Amino acid sequence: MGETIIALADLRYAAPVPQVPDRLTEPTGTLLDRRGRPLRDLRISVTDRCNFRCSYCMPKEVFDRDYRFLPHSSLLSFEEITRLAQVFVSHGVTKLRLTGGEPLLRKGLEQLVGMLAGLRTADGKPLDLTLTTNGSLLARKAQSLRDAGLSRLTVSLDAIDDTVFRRMNDVDFPVADVLAGIDAARQAGFGPIKVNMVVKRGTNDHEIVAMARHFRGTDVVLRFIEYMDVGATNGWCMDEVLPSASVLALLRGQWPLLPLEPSTTGETAERWRYADGAGEIGLISSVTQAFCRDCNRARLSTEGKLFTCLFATRGHDLRALLRSGRSDAEIAGALSLVWADRGDRYSEMRALQGESPAGRQHRVEMHYIGG
Ligand code: SAM
Ligand code: SF4
Ligand code: SF4
Repeated sequence: MGETIIALADLRYAAPVPQVPDRLTEPTGTLLDRRGRPLRDLRISVTDRCNFRCSYCMPKEVFDRDYRFLPHSSLLSFEEITRLAQVFVSHGVTKLRLTGGEPLLRKGLEQLVGMLAGLRTADGKPLDLTLTTNGSLLARKAQSLRDAGLSRLTVSLDAIDDTVFRRMNDVDFPVADVLAGIDAARQAGFGPIKVNMVVKRGTNDHEIVAMARHFRGTDVVLRFIEYMDVGATNGWCMDEVLPSASVLALLRGQWPLLPLEPSTTGETAERWRYADGAGEIGLISSVTQAFCRDCNRARLSTEGKLFTCLFATRGHDLRALLRSGRSDAEIAGALSLVWADRGDRYSEMRALQGESPAGRQHRVEMHYIGG
């Protein structure tokens, strides 16, 4: 029975085993892809399961009780994740983000955080270790995550109105519990915390100003994300995307805002600050302003497949290398070939074509690959 499920899950996202080069060279800390983009950011999905059913990510009709999530044996162990992360770091990754599914559902996650917090870059620096969560279990876990060495936190929250929020998570989860999670995180010493709001026109766009008002004057950085055509199940259409420019216009109608410089290269958010000093907001325009040009992100799925773009249709099976006894040097060599061959620029293509390009039905799902 278990084996049948593994076969199905693996078939869903067929991924070739990457080639190991005959001649291995020492990683230099900078790996460039075909478009000259370095590898700096690794997002690690630690589970494909989630206790929410946000319609833009895991619609209830698809992810119902018959849906087959990955069996435990398919998942990378904490040791395997840490080993791969170290290989990525040797190639220049400085930032790790734990995600999912809902990462706080993965049992013993604090232990993994502790292991990753122990990694160092080639010049001896600790990594920027962060996590994205729906916040439902944060009140319980914030302190232990902090104690384990997590540096930063992003919480997803799509509305401040309880009725709208319960409808969006589609499991009737109350907004008060997520807000309690954010408070607990603050008390545990995380700060500034980022809060991500996916804006769906006609669903929660009337919550934009209320969300801004709620977090204004706190150390929370609220970021508005354009609803994306990721995966194959959310029924995305352009009409439901509210461009960031419209979000900005709405906010500017309420408060004067001034632009801020990006804090790092490859930063996805355009940053603005309230002119009266009440804090900062961000706009992530994944649809209307593609940021492929500087994209330095790779994603590792729950079962150890590497994806070089959020919109990829196939991955590269690193778990197969791990489990066939390949050395770190061999895995590093395989990774350098995969990255050198990377030419992804999906969002730029979408912008050129004005719609979601073909091949959508084969695209990898967000809860599996991580956001
Ligand atoms: N469950 C965690 C959470 O919701 O924060 C982590 C995983 S979730 C896939 C990561 C991020 O992706 C969340 O901020 C979520 O809002 C965002 N996301 C998921 N589907 C999206 C879509 N279709 N468009 C834009 N953002 C999306
Ligand atoms: Fe779960 Fe996060 Fe996807 Fe919502 S966005 S269904 S919380 S994985
Ligand atoms: Fe990066 Fe792909 Fe997104 Fe472009 S579409 S920014 S290459 S993940």
